[in-house]
Amino acid sequence: MNYERLQQKLSILADAAKYDVSCSSSGTKRKNTQKGLGNAVSGICHSYTEDGRCVSLLKILFTNHCIYDCAYCTSRRSNDTERAAFTVEEVVDLTMQFYRRNYIEGLFLSSGIFKSPDYTMERLVRVAKTLRLEHKFNGYIHLKTIPGASAELIHEAGLYADRLSMNMEIPTKSGLALLAPEKDHEVLKAPLKTVQEQIVVFKESKKQHKHAPRFAPAGQSTQLIVGAAQETDLQIIRLSNHFYKDYGLKRVFYSGYVPMLNDNRLPAIGTPVPMVREHRLYQSDWLLRFYGFDAEEILPDDHPFLDLDCDPKLAWAIRHREHFPVNIQIAPYKMIIRIPGIGTRTAKKIMKARKFTTLTLDHLKQLGCAVNRAKYFVAFRGPNAHLRYLTQDNFRNFVIAQTQTKFSDERHGQLVLF
Ligand code: SF4
Repeated sequence: MNYERLQQKLSILADAAKYDVSCSSSGTKRKNTQKGLGNAVSGICHSYTEDGRCVSLLKILFTNHCIYDCAYCTSRRSNDTERAAFTVEEVVDLTMQFYRRNYIEGLFLSSGIFKSPDYTMERLVRVAKTLRLEHKFNGYIHLKTIPGASAELIHEAGLYADRLSMNMEIPTKSGLALLAPEKDHEVLKAPLKTVQEQIVVFKESKKQHKHAPRFAPAGQSTQLIVGAAQETDLQIIRLSNHFYKDYGLKRVFYSGYVPMLNDNRLPAIGTPVPMVREHRLYQSDWLLRFYGFDAEEILPDDHPFLDLDCDPKLAWAIRHREHFPVNIQIAPYKMIIRIPGIGTRTAKKIMKARKFTTLTLDHLKQLGCAVNRAKYFVAFRGPNAHLRYLTQDNFRNFVIAQTQTKFSDERHGQLVLF
């Protein structure tokens, strides 16, 4: 093997993969079997580069050659960039060597599309299959499903990968038509539907046959680019909601667009990466998944952008003061979790504690509540002097001033995360 050339390829193809943030390894448990190598358990694969992007796995493209010309992508065919492609054996060998040296916990393998979707997908599948069957590799494997690849190959991919993902990238049809006219939203969604159906089928057969194989046990995910196509936050949140409800996705990842390419369809090079917007979208995503919010509750039609000055739950509470104050002693769980400053874990503790105690602000603090926000929205058995602000005209500004976040001064630029 020519290690110098391999090193070059690694440098090119790891660099090309860094803008894909959908590499979380959460949600899987793969025990070491057959005296193989490695375990994949929740949370072991998370680390971040200095610009805040997750590179916890061996995160590479199989190739950055691509037959497509998506304006936002450094691998697009018209971009004058250095190209490379691994062989199946090279990716397998790198993964095993890195794993043995404890550099990585698993593999995140994406790819440009070369020759055809099936040609590319077949190679990704062969990597995972070789790792699992020949090398008994039990570490985490995340594979991309290539849009347009056959259902048979996607099926095979799910048998060997822990997670599958297919990046939608551009959230709106009009944005996609502008930036990637060769692509189509419905074609992109097709593999997501195939994977969802297979996950259901395999889960059913697992119930009946203990030894039935698992199919993409960590589910599937996608990534949306934020800020490349003039989409609104409401459009992004609606699409995420659609994916969670209709496609059973485990995660939607949001990636603030990093302007690197000269193209008058895109934000100019030097435009700040919308990191705070990305952060607010992640917070909204939590509201969808864990707090029972609908997309339209998070943002109304006539207000389609998230408030960058405060988190979306606080913004909702400020807009809907008619629901407050919430009586902490008797309100249902679904309302307790809507109180700003109270997360699901604290809400559960409150539900237990209030059976035995008449709760006060001090109790809430002890239970883990961010009382600097919650105090304006909760009622107790006794008086709460902070409630007098709730009906003030300038309530929003007042509350935001009192609950300054670490993002307040940096909302127009790149965040310093570490
Ligand atoms: S198909 Fe994927 S790799 Fe190819 S140009 Fe488009 S986004 Fe980039």
